[in-house]
Amino acid sequence: MSNLVLPTLFVSHGAPTLALDPGATGAFWQRLGQELPRPRAVLCVSAHWATAEPELSHTASPETIHDFFGFPEPLYRIRYAAPGAPGVAERAAHLLDAAGIEIGIDRERGIDHGTWVPMRSLYPDADVPVLQLSVQPRRDAAWHDALGGALAPLREEGVLILASGGAVHNLGALLWHGGNTPHWAERFDDWLASALAEGRKAELLDWKKRAPDARMAQPTDEHFLPLFVALGAAGEGARGTRIHDGFTLGSLSMAAFRFV
Ligand code: ZN
Repeated sequence: MSNLVLPTLFVSHGAPTLALDPGATGAFWQRLGQELPRPRAVLCVSAHWATAEPELSHTASPETIHDFFGFPEPLYRIRYAAPGAPGVAERAAHLLDAAGIEIGIDRERGIDHGTWVPMRSLYPDADVPVLQLSVQPRRDAAWHDALGGALAPLREEGVLILASGGAVHNLGALLWHGGNTPHWAERFDDWLASALAEGRKAELLDWKKRAPDARMAQPTDEHFLPLFVALGAAGEGARGTRIHDGFTLGSLSMAAFRFV
């Protein structure tokens, strides 16, 4: 165990096709993977694993899950063969349990594209063990902030908490053939960056009421909730720095944030 304290991250993973055409975001992830201290494992909080109560994946060799439909065939052939991290799952379960949070262990769950799309660029050699934590769309931002808070000690144990969702994520509003980014998407994206930079936590936790165009930017909660786990795990008074930005398909934000 080292004394190193890892930051926490929130990344927008974009559309599954990003795996075939990684572009500027893929290049950014690749640089980030090289710049960060090398973690012992990555705990990924994926928007694509939604459960009623929190669950951790506990598998020695997680399968690559292709959890999307109607995309180009080569995407379904991608395998990301990183080892799992059952020991970290047990440690995380213990921390959540100690915080009074009931936690389920899933011994079958592989890794979905919320995890493997960014991980393929962050750690292309698939040599960093990975596990997932689910989100609870029926619960609010404060709940996910508390989940993160309970997991904070992992940062001192060499575990990188990687929250993967979307800073602006409205699938119904995507422009699949390109187009200008609408003002509502820019407004929400910029609100998020400034609220995180200034550590306006009460406002962030109350985002549905206080963020501009909240329901346009996030018609459902699941892609936004991972952010709060990263925020909570960064500790009291945490601020987030936007370390990558940009939009794809019109309004799909690719923003990434680093906490501490
Ligand atoms: Zn997604």
